[in-house]
Amino acid sequence: MTQYPKIDLPNACDVVVIGGGIHGASSAYYLTKAGMKVVLLEKDTVASHQSGRAWGFVRQQGRDPAELPLMIECNRIWQGLEKELDADLEWRQGGVLFVARDGSEMAEYEQWIEETKGFGIETQVLDTKGVEKLTPGITTPGVGGIYTPSDGQAEPKKAAPAIAKRASEMGAVIAEGCGALSIETEGGAVSSVVSERGEIKCKYVICAAGAASHKFVAKLGRRLPQQTTRGTVIRTTPVPHISAAGTLAAGLAFRQRTDGSMNIADEFMTDIDLTLGRFKFARDFAPGLFDNWATFKFHFNKRFFDDLVDRMPGSEAAKQPTIGRRTNQAEPYKVRVNNAMANLQKVFPQIKQVGIVDQWAGDIDVTPDAVPVIDQLDRPKHFFIATGFSGHGFAMGPVVGKVLADWITTGQPSITLAGMELARFEDGTRRRPRSRV
Ligand SMILES: Cc1cc2nc3c(=O)[nH]c(=O)nc-3n(C[C@H](O)[C@H](O)[C@H](O)COP(=O)(O)OP(=O)(O)OC[C@H]3O[C@@H](n4cnc5c(N)ncnc54)[C@H](O)[C@@H]3O)c2cc1C
Repeated sequence: MTQYPKIDLPNACDVVVIGGGIHGASSAYYLTKAGMKVVLLEKDTVASHQSGRAWGFVRQQGRDPAELPLMIECNRIWQGLEKELDADLEWRQGGVLFVARDGSEMAEYEQWIEETKGFGIETQVLDTKGVEKLTPGITTPGVGGIYTPSDGQAEPKKAAPAIAKRASEMGAVIAEGCGALSIETEGGAVSSVVSERGEIKCKYVICAAGAASHKFVAKLGRRLPQQTTRGTVIRTTPVPHISAAGTLAAGLAFRQRTDGSMNIADEFMTDIDLTLGRFKFARDFAPGLFDNWATFKFHFNKRFFDDLVDRMPGSEAAKQPTIGRRTNQAEPYKVRVNNAMANLQKVFPQIKQVGIVDQWAGDIDVTPDAVPVIDQLDRPKHFFIATGFSGHGFAMGPVVGKVLADWITTGQPSITLAGMELARFEDGTRRRPRSRV
């Protein structure tokens, strides 16, 4: 907590942004650039939750078609972002490669290419030789894969902080350690946000509060089914060059940074920490859960009891429900760490020596169809929401901030957001998940 000037919060501004992840930071940046007075409230520190804990894949490949117009534009933004912010984001356009586990996965990948042909993304179908050329030494199941050369990677620990820093330099107030408690309305429109450091009158609110967003939406009388899964990531010691492509292969997700170190993860499985809150949206998540039952691992651990404590009247979390526990509570799951490390040496037998430099976990906020909600409520007016990025929202951060800023300043989103409306969870039009989480 620190790189932003510690100033008193203004009692009025144009836009209050709730949440200092990549979506909140980007919104603050583009709005400030457009001349708006912005206050960003972050209950913890910028990028201390999902946005600083991601693998760092920046991909178009494998996305739900609803996300592609945004992501194609975002890919363009990433290419110039380091220059624009004058910051090192470790951006590298080395492509993204999915190696198929078997023929049926290969068929799914090819089907995605077929369905998204009209978007003009140049995804290549590779045979085993093509995969080996891109990632020398890889042990593959001998089926092939797909590769999008224009995709890339960036460093999550650097991106959102750099964007927030630039927003702050341009005049946005970035208030860390200061949560949003409630949203007030007047005449059918938002009128202020009550924060831990006082009330701020405003014309617009952007809710980019990650996994807490559903709480704000509920307070406004709407329903956003949102849950979390836990993701564990390992950073290794540097190993000889393997590939510049973010890769999914044989249950291993990895990207190699320019210093040779790798971010790796056990890609097969999803960890779910059981709490009473899990039952809240059970009906919404049931279809996805049953479709992928074998890939879920349920954990009965400390978080179950923490959640019980948080429900007790008088507990800190019960007094401030929109804030809850302030800091990241997700712990790396040792089995995932061990699996990923073992798998790394199985997939790349040439790696004889490799150690762990760091390991961490993050709670990934998901929606039932794995597509985000980027929307403006009709009531109260001027309440915008960007959340539920379901494990692939780091890549989209810059464009989401830009589109929200365009929407607020011109009255229209500059890129179609069809399929991302909140109402799909209320009127039954939502689909089953299609994107790769
Ligand atoms: C392990 C892991 C791997 C991932 N890998 C990738 C990847 O490779 N590529 C990719 O594109 N995506 C990836 N993701 C997903 C990506 O990180 C998220 O989709 C994205 O960061 C979400 O950003 P956000 O700004 O919406 O949420 P967050 O980053 O969670 O930010 C929300 C912020 O809101 C704050 N907040 C909550 N309540 C309040 C309140 N009341 N007042 C003020 N502030 C509040 C929180 O403290 C938090 O900082 C991964 C995620 C994880 C955890």
